[in-house]
Amino acid sequence: VNSILTAGILCGGIYALQREFTRPKGLALELCNAVHRGEMQLYFQPQIDDVGTIHGAEALLRWQHPQRGQIPPGDFIPVAEEAGLMPLLGGWVLKEACRTLAIWSDDPVLSKLTLAVNVSASQFQIEGFESSVLEYVGFYRIDPTLLQLELTESVLVHDLAPTVAKMERLRATGISIALDDFGTGYSSLSYLRRLPLDQLKIDRSFVKESLESERGAALVKSIVQLGIDLGFVVLAEGIETPAQHAFLLDCGCHEFQGYLFGRPMRETDFAAHVQQATGAAAQPAPVRSR
Ligand code: C2E
Ligand code: MG
Ligand code: MG
Ligand code: MG
Repeated sequence: VNSILTAGILCGGIYALQREFTRPKGLALELCNAVHRGEMQLYFQPQIDDVGTIHGAEALLRWQHPQRGQIPPGDFIPVAEEAGLMPLLGGWVLKEACRTLAIWSDDPVLSKLTLAVNVSASQFQIEGFESSVLEYVGFYRIDPTLLQLELTESVLVHDLAPTVAKMERLRATGISIALDDFGTGYSSLSYLRRLPLDQLKIDRSFVKESLESERGAALVKSIVQLGIDLGFVVLAEGIETPAQHAFLLDCGCHEFQGYLFGRPMRETDFAAHVQQATGAAAQPAPVRSR
């Protein structure tokens, strides 16, 4: 909680430095203020299991810009990275995610859901990353086993040993770790032998190609099998059609995420969606009277 404040105070200083040494960036300055102005929002996209039950959500960042409207993360995260604002932004995301899990913990249905948070490589490498995560978990008294961190293969450009050690310490607290966008990085597969992971998220490009060619199908099948053989939970991202779902289910995939099951939505909409889906499953089919 403190680190957010510190980051906020540092923010002006960081930007001043940036302006000294690099070209001025309007968006970076605005980003810095956006967090404090409450313009950032987390959206929630459902993740379902192999029988169709909502198992959890992925938290996805949105910037509600007062003039430009909603800006997707692909447009501002690179700016934040470059301006050194990821500790501020990522810290806000983690805190907000833990706060959401705390709210959910009071509800009989929502309290069972996991929440996955994207963590950029630069954010993960920061000295205080681990302690800030644990600080939020403690502050909001949430169950760490419901929190998942999504890392990408870009964490592997750094020294593997300290990265592995950090992942292991986090996992020892009950937090789980997913490897996001699996297969799209440039790393060698050998890291899979060493990375302490719970879940592999198969990138949506593979899902898309799975029904477009025989090679696309063979590739995704083999990737899913690899994940299963290594003992990971395998989740397929970007499922848009029933045919893609059926194919990935047939491959043995454990979990699914994509527009077919729900777009990223605001917390209130997500909660209503879960209640409705759960209610629909729990209620017996209505008896038709005449
Ligand atoms: P990601 O972590 O791989 O998240 C999945 C992205 O795929 C999301 O885009 C989601 O809206 C989109 N998506 C989900 N289902 C479908 C589908 O069926 N079809 C298609 N075409 N797309 C689908 P979004 O929200 O724009 O986020 C893009 C990326 O930005 C994320 O990819 C993640 O790498 C990054 N990001 C988002 N939020 C955060 C955050 O809080 N921190 C960090 N470090 N990165 C974030
Ligand atoms: Mg999960
Ligand atoms: Mg992700
Ligand atoms: Mg992904």
